[in-house]
Parts: sequence; C-alpha cells; structure tokens
Amino acid sequence: MLVESIVRKTLGLKRHCVNKVTEEHGEIVVYLVPDKRCKVVCSCCGRQGPGYDTLKERRWKHVPLWGIPVTLVHAPRRVECSTCGIRVEAIPWTQGKSPLSLPLSVVLATWSKLVAWKVVGQLFGFHWNTVRKAVKNVVDYGLANRDLGNLIYIGIDEISRKRGHVYHTQVYDLIEKRLLWSGEDRTSETLEAFFDYLGQERCECIEAVCCDMWAPYIDAIKKRLPNALLVFDKFHIVRHLLDAVDKVRKEEAQKLKSENPELLKKSRYIWLKNPWNLTDNQKVRLSDLEKLNLKINRAYLLKEAFRKFWDYSYKAWAKKYLIQWFWWATHSRLKPMRDFAWMVRRHQDDILNYFKVPIDNGAVEGLNNKAKAISHRAYGYRTAETFKLALYHGMGKLPEPQLTHKFV
Ligand SMILES: [Zn+2]
Repeated sequence: MLVESIVRKTLGLKRHCVNKVTEEHGEIVVYLVPDKRCKVVCSCCGRQGPGYDTLKERRWKHVPLWGIPVTLVHAPRRVECSTCGIRVEAIPWTQGKSPLSLPLSVVLATWSKLVAWKVVGQLFGFHWNTVRKAVKNVVDYGLANRDLGNLIYIGIDEISRKRGHVYHTQVYDLIEKRLLWSGEDRTSETLEAFFDYLGQERCECIEAVCCDMWAPYIDAIKKRLPNALLVFDKFHIVRHLLDAVDKVRKEEAQKLKSENPELLKKSRYIWLKNPWNLTDNQKVRLSDLEKLNLKINRAYLLKEAFRKFWDYSYKAWAKKYLIQWFWWATHSRLKPMRDFAWMVRRHQDDILNYFKVPIDNGAVEGLNNKAKAISHRAYGYRTAETFKLALYHGMGKLPEPQLTHKFV
C-alpha cells in the first residue's frame, strides 16, 4: 500500500490510479489503470472527450526505488476529441513515444549535466543509450517550449569536432548568452538552415550579427538578414592579427637559424601575450629583444598600436585611427602585417560597425570552451546528433519539464 501511494503522489496522478504493484524478475512493476470516474483527456489539446478504445499495454522505465528498477505499465486509451479527432489520452508521466517516464528522463538528464553520461548510466543501472534518450526527451521539450521572442543580437562561431576534422556552426543569443542552434559544417547552407529554422518573422527582428570574416557566413547573412548590422568580431580580428605577428616571428627565426639560433627561441608568447600578463623573466627578455632592430619587434609595436583602435567611442575617430594604422602597417615592409592590414581594409565598414553596436563574441569564446567539456561528458558515440544534443543540453538554457515531485 505504501509503494502505491508513493507512486500516486510522486507522479501527481489525477485521472489514473495504481491498480497493483508486483515484483517481477527483481523489478518493481507498477500497473496503472484509468480512474473510471474521470473522462479521458486529449493529449493534443487537453480537452476532455468520450473514450474511443484502448491500445496495447505499454511499459515505461521509471526512477529506481532503493536501487531497484521500476517499470510502469499502462494500456493507453484513445479519446474521440471534438477538435483533434481520435487521439491518445494525455498521460502525465510520459511525453510522446518515449519508453522512459518523464521523471526518469529529467533525473538522468539532470545528472548528465554534472558527470559523464556513461557514469550516469552506471549509477542508475542503465545503458548509455538510455541516458542519451533521456537527455533527448528533455532537450526536445526545451526546444519546443523555449522563448525566442527577444532575439536581437546573435553571434556566430564555429567549433570543431573529431579533432578538427568536422566543423559545427554555432549560433548564440548574445543577450541571454545561450546556444540557439548548432549545425554540422560551416557553409552558407549551414547558416541558412538556421535562418530557415528561425523563420522569416524572427529573422527580421535581428538587429545585429557578430561573426568572423568568413565569406560563406557573410554571404548567408547579407542574403537572409539584409537589414541586420554585420559586426566583425573583435576577438577574431585580434586572432588574425596575432597570426600575422607569429608569421613574422617564424620567418625571422628561420632566417636567423644559422647565425643566431638561440635569439628568438621560445619567444612566441612574449610577442603574443598582452604586456601586462608577461612574467618578470619574459619582461626582461622582451626589453632586451626590443633593443635589437628586429622585424618581429616592428610587428609587435604594430600589434600593440592596434589595441588603441578599440578604445575609441566614436566611429569617426576610430576610422581616422584605423586609416593611420593602415598606413603604418602597409609601410612596415612586413608582408604578414601588410596582408592583415589589407584584410582589415577590405572589411573596414563591417569592422567599424562595432562602434555602432559594440557587440563581440567574447561570451561565445567562453561558451565554446565550455562546449568542449560538455561534448566530452557525452562521450560514447561521437555522432553529430549526440554532439548537438549535449551542447543544447549544457548551453541552451532550455526550460525543463515541470514535475509534481522533485526527484533530484
Ligand atoms: Zn484534442
């Protein structure tokens, strides 16, 4: 009797009751039947209607009790709904066709945010794939019920899977700092698939998009969001700049190889790091190297001068400074710096949009790092679907199904 009333209370049963609880092959099996006093409720619209027929018995895995597996058994009825036609009844402990009870999905999914999915499976006595299904149920619910009403600034970035062999395009909500969408590959079509998903009306509400200077993304944005402001991401621009500086260092080190191989050895981070982050030893080494007439030092000074660009408040002043910097870089006799300067020149308008809407993908960088840890937790079968599932679950800030009892 006690187990029956616990089941009734924790499942929040109103139109169903527990018929019997048995022990079968080491499992607790709970048989649920309709409460004859109640009408059948349509699973589509929630309205009551007359019963139509009864379907075959179904079984759901439920939250284990004292480490003993629990199974729920019920033969769902169908309702003759005046609005929807003939439909399956609403069953409070389930969602769609899942063989897991909703509380079990929530319990496993909650733990999956904290530890590896495989470990969750071991703790609760389920296969990895059951844990995956649980996460999928909760994510599906979240995606169907999330609010996309206030989407105005989005950030687009890429992330690699399988050690850089497969790319995923990630779309973030820059205000709420949540993952909106993830799709395999990084082509125009990939991004257009997101805009299709979002729909015309919501696309029109987007005011600004932040991304890297990656032509396929730019094409898709200009085509599908013609009125949105394109802002090239500050962090990506800086990364391109650092790549250029590093190229100068490598070329120079190569030239000095026979003459003075020790001079630039292990100096990479001295040139790339922010000066205030250098260790005392690095500071001393930098000031020694600065006294020599090195190409890398000229590149370093250009890099440091570029920093000032972001400090401007007004677009016109920022532009003036950028033009000045362009002149310095193009007269530096350093090819990588010149190439970078020309890339900036080609995208100048979209870079300067930062001074209209100062958004950047800084938060996204943090999220992308988090993504790596998250996808690692889902380790099992590294398919694109599982990867996306783990990301939505960990970074989507998705609403979760509400339960009448707090199981975890
Ligand atoms: Zn209905």
